[in-house]
Formats: sequence, C-alpha cells, structure tokens
Amino acid sequence: MNAERMIDRIEKLAQCSRSVRGVTRLAFTKESEQANHLVDGWMKEAGMKVRRDALNNIIGRYEGMDPDAPVLLIGSHLDSVAEAGKYDGILGVIAGIEVVHAMHENGIVTKNPIEVIGFCDEEGTRFHTTLLGSRAIVGSLSEEDLEARDHEGVTVAEAMQAIGMNPDQYGRAARDPQSILGYLELHIEQGPVLWEKGQSCGAVAGIAGQSRFEFKVEGQAGHAGTVPLSMRRDALVGAAEMIQAVERIALEYESVVATVGKLAVLPGASNVIPGVVEGTLDVRSLHDETKRNALLAIIEEFHRIAHRRGLVCHIRRVMDSPAVVCTSQYVQTIETVLAQRGMKPLRLVSGAGHDAMALALITDIGMIFVRCKEGVSHHPDEYASPEDILESATVLMNVALRLTT
Ligand SMILES: [Zn+2]
Repeated sequence: MNAERMIDRIEKLAQCSRSVRGVTRLAFTKESEQANHLVDGWMKEAGMKVRRDALNNIIGRYEGMDPDAPVLLIGSHLDSVAEAGKYDGILGVIAGIEVVHAMHENGIVTKNPIEVIGFCDEEGTRFHTTLLGSRAIVGSLSEEDLEARDHEGVTVAEAMQAIGMNPDQYGRAARDPQSILGYLELHIEQGPVLWEKGQSCGAVAGIAGQSRFEFKVEGQAGHAGTVPLSMRRDALVGAAEMIQAVERIALEYESVVATVGKLAVLPGASNVIPGVVEGTLDVRSLHDETKRNALLAIIEEFHRIAHRRGLVCHIRRVMDSPAVVCTSQYVQTIETVLAQRGMKPLRLVSGAGHDAMALALITDIGMIFVRCKEGVSHHPDEYASPEDILESATVLMNVALRLTT
C-alpha cells in the first residue's frame, strides 16, 4: 500500500472544486466530470476495467479467479457538500483503488471479482435528494427523484443531459442482488470518538436512525416591564425547560443523541415577553425501539411542561428514517483484522448517513471509520493523517481478502 500515492490523489481530487475555500464538487458538473476523469485513469492504472453506469457512478472491476462469482463492492462518494473537506467520501474511493492496485502489483487475484465504485451523489447538496448514486444501484431510485431541482431550477434529468447522459436509462444502473457478495465502505468518522480514543480506525456497528420534529410553543406576549413574573406565560422560559428535558431524557437511554438545533423567538424584542417559540428536535439511535421510547418520553415531558406553565405545545414529525445495522459477520471480520494489527475492536455508531445505507437493501454491508482530526468534517479543516490513511486502507485490504478468498 502506498500512502504517498493516496495523499497525492486526494490532493488532486480536491482541485476539482468550484469554490476557492474548501472543496465544492456537486453532481453532474464540470468539476464532477474532472474528478471522474482522474478516477478513471487511476482505476485503469490499478488493473481495473472501468465503466460509467446509467447514473454516472464510476465503476472499476478487478476480475476474480471465478468471473461468475458474486462481486465484492468497495465504494464511497465523489461529490461533496459546499466548502467541504478533502476526505469525506473521497478517502473511501481512493483507498478502494489502492487496495486493488496493491493486489494487482503483488499478483494477488481473489476468487470473487472486486469492483470499486465512486458514487455520483451521496450528499444531496445540489438537488436535496441524498444517495442518488447508490439508490440507483439498488434499484430504489424513481422518476420523481430525477425531477428534483437545484437552486437554479435545473432538474436532475436536465443536469444529466447537460453532460451527455440519457436520464431515461437510469433503471439500467440497478444491479442484480444475486450478483453481489457484499459492500465495504471506508469513510472518515466525521465525529470525535476515534480521535478521543487515540486509534486510527474502527468498525461501524451501524448507521443511526433519525427522527426530525418541528415544535411550536405558544404563550402570551406582553410588556417586559409591566407584567409580573407570576402572571406570565413566557414561551421561551417554557421552551428552555423543554430543551433541558431533551438532554436529561436522552441521557437516560443508552446510544440516543438528541439535539435542538434551531430556535426562533417571537416577536423577538428585548422589551417583549416571548409569545411564541418555534424549534427543531433531532433524535437518533442505532436502536429504533430505544429511539421511539426516548421520543415518547420527550414528547410527554414537552406537554407536561407546557401544561404546568399554561402554554400550548404543538409537535410535528417531519422526517423518520430507520437505523441500518451492519452485517455482523462483516463487523466481526473488521474487528478481527483490527485486533491482528494491534488495535482495539472499537465499534462505532454512525450518526451520519452513508451510501452503505442504500446498499444494505440488497446486500451485506461493512464499514470502516477512519480517525479525523478533532472529529471535524464538512469543513475545509477536515483532516486525516497519512499514517491513519495507510493503516485504515491496510485494514480494508485485509478485510477484502478475508471476504473474497
Ligand atoms: Zn461522506
């Protein structure tokens, strides 16, 4: 495995960017085509046959001893958020190419073929539709998805046409589940756990399910000087107590994280008692049942607090996605390799979504998380060290070998 080659490629891909600050590479753009062109060349150099599927996912195939055996997929995404770091997504594609490159250079041919995939759009930055590439591959993409528009009003279908693709063919990207052995994804952690634990990489237990709510607390606005405290129905003081309750209740449930990330105070003047507060609640867990129980407790407490303070609380669910658990055999294989290389068998929960979520619909999945500096991601300061990149790619290689031979 060649760390320098991987770093060099990460830097080159970072140049395929619309923004000067950080990396901005959206799906079906000049920049994504530049990135695909580079990846195409590196895949060929690594001994792979390269093709683009009907959604512009780039796929390199390294033939196995048995070409009819189901294929092991290794992938991640090539698109980015706005002003992103250099490693999110990219690292998994570059590490996958490096694994095959090392096999090719050392004359290693596995029983199963291996395909490395760079997905065209995971983040959903441009069209607000996440996992376009991987959902096409598992056959869960619909015509409706292709009608999503970017902020200039361009649809996915139009953007595909603009780079010479035929959107009507999107169904052809779907793969036969029988032809797939499993899916591996290496990705930066995007959180601080590995950084805190002082370890290069870890196994991912699964991707947390997520529920998002909007809530509204209604009280009574009034003069900040003339209404006595005992006679107030202050929506913000009530909301503050509710937010405290969110943290307290979430802490009672293992593996639940809960966040109130947005708050609007109305009418919003220094001399007016807050009459209305609108906010968001985001609750995640790897265990759907636990998440549900924590949510029920939180909602009950919201209403209890509102009632006691003479407030009215409305709460509305706007999004709910179930957790995706990684295949236990894959998690164990990753842990075995970690132990072999002198690391602890750390199991992490992903609080962020990944292409593996889509792949889980049709095949076994395993994920390796790589330490990133201070857990910073979706930011130009995102950083993974050459040592950690080399170590995690080596783990990926060993896991791939164990699964295919
Ligand atoms: Zn990512």
